[in-house]
Amino acid sequence: MKFSNLFVPTLKETPKDAEVVSHQLMIRAGLIRKSAAGIYSYLPLGLRVIQKFEAIVREEMNKAGAQEVLLPMVVPGKLWKKSARWDQYGRELLRFTDRKNQDFCLGPTHEEVITELIGSHITSYKQLPINVYQIQTKFRDEIRPRFGVMRSREFVMKDAYSFHETPEDLDLTYEAMHKAYVRIFERCQLRFKVVNADSGSIGGSESAEFMVTADTGEDEILETDSGYAANVEAAETVAIPDPEMEVGQPEAINTPGTKTIDALATFLNKSPETLVKTLIYITDDQEPIMILLRGDHTLNEPKLKNVLNGKGVRPAKEAEIVDICGVTPGFLGPLKTQKPCQVLVDHSVPLNGDLTVGANELDTHIVHVQLSRDCGLTERYDLRNAVPGDESPQGGTYKSTRGIEVGHIFKLGDKYSLAMDKTFLNANGKTAPFIMGCYGIGIGRTVAASIEQCHDEKGIVWPTELAPFHVDVIVAKPKDPEHTAIGDQLYKALLDSQWDTILDDRSDISVGVKFKDAELIGFPVQCVIGKITSETGEVELIKRDTGDRVSVKPDQVLSTINSWLIT
Ligand code: ATP
Ligand code: MG
Repeated sequence: MKFSNLFVPTLKETPKDAEVVSHQLMIRAGLIRKSAAGIYSYLPLGLRVIQKFEAIVREEMNKAGAQEVLLPMVVPGKLWKKSARWDQYGRELLRFTDRKNQDFCLGPTHEEVITELIGSHITSYKQLPINVYQIQTKFRDEIRPRFGVMRSREFVMKDAYSFHETPEDLDLTYEAMHKAYVRIFERCQLRFKVVNADSGSIGGSESAEFMVTADTGEDEILETDSGYAANVEAAETVAIPDPEMEVGQPEAINTPGTKTIDALATFLNKSPETLVKTLIYITDDQEPIMILLRGDHTLNEPKLKNVLNGKGVRPAKEAEIVDICGVTPGFLGPLKTQKPCQVLVDHSVPLNGDLTVGANELDTHIVHVQLSRDCGLTERYDLRNAVPGDESPQGGTYKSTRGIEVGHIFKLGDKYSLAMDKTFLNANGKTAPFIMGCYGIGIGRTVAASIEQCHDEKGIVWPTELAPFHVDVIVAKPKDPEHTAIGDQLYKALLDSQWDTILDDRSDISVGVKFKDAELIGFPVQCVIGKITSETGEVELIKRDTGDRVSVKPDQVLSTINSWLIT
């Protein structure tokens, strides 16, 4: 490729709407351009990087025994109705009708399509296991697309789905996928952690996320010194022992204007952890749920969903809260609600403790409430977000880091095969639902995550395997025929090698701009035919990541680059 022919609109200025460095650099280096909110075009250099990453993913998936397919992006609504996700998935699912008024959606993920396909053709255990993958565009109408291709609405994902006779057989493929993912992200020289994303009670399913560590990551990871790590969504907490104690009789007290835990704590001169926070949620079946947490804790919605056996939930609206409790938020509590309401207590709140709760009456709280005695509550659950410093059930205390979720592997079990009624004949001649696993990697997000980790003030620093071109042959003075001849010669020689090479033959710009572009785009090696060449006949090689510079004879260029890039 010659730079003079390349469509690469680089920018000096940082785009205003780009919050994170990977987004800024992908725009500035001419890799992507926005088409609409969360929808991007990949330009030639961006696409080359994407294709390099896809090639790594393909290689490792094929090696791990998965076979490639390509499923439709436009998915019949009837498949999603079969799995019941048509109603559950929410507004991220972009639904539409065709000219015959049939429902369709743009696939945000493909469990339904693949379960229908495999389930319709695989009939016997003898044909199992099977593992298929695709690299394809997904659409999720994200409420807040941001960070460029990191959280976009349209994005490319590698998604794989495996089908098994038994959970034990799924374990084998799950492990193989785990190992393949480690190889994929290691080849990209990413620093990453594999964290527990276990969704708890849903059928004993296991799930792990691959997190690229970055301060700008949207996910919080809690880890202990012993090496255990979990997404904050999944990090379990330890129950705080429930004391046996005598508590005085409940007493309503006037607490004017104390709508928040902090205001109440100040008013009562108590610390927030001694108070109870009451939240109201509504399930998909319109049932109200009251959640009691310690005043200084926050609700973990995925944990709540698990306690409710996977039922969807949302925070109640103010009007609903008034309807259930008879008062606006700030004075809610488990005693004397207007409507019956299931109460779930977090296991940091003592059922036998001497507690203060809202009275379901304006400007009023009740002190000396004992939940076991006054509300008949007997169970506690892990419902809160763990925080740094908390004890972990796996031992040690949590500390917090941030990460970007680039991959996710999941044991689905028979969730989709049961819902969609897809079975096979097992070794005993009985029909059984397929046991499934699914495995995703965000292609664009991984590339962006790589930039988050590998950049400096001048621009991107690509790891060798992802670089759009490995070597940028820069001819400082294209009008000098001697320089041009050496540049052409080296360019041709490098094209015959394993290194992807671009020739900066642009004659209308200064060499300074060529260097700036090379640094911004982040080619691992610059090969400069310039002043040194005129003086000594040597060319200068510059390594992007370390800044190392050496002058070598043209016939030593390839061996030097080999020694730099082959590890
Ligand atoms: P998140 O929690 O970040 O919304 P998710 O858990 O919903 O992601 P999965 O359904 O597990 O995502 O999808 C598999 C992979 O697809 C993710 O690990 C991520 O790398 C990628 N991905 C998901 N959503 C997006 C998005 N909006 N933009 C870019 N990549 C995405
Ligand atoms: Mg995920």
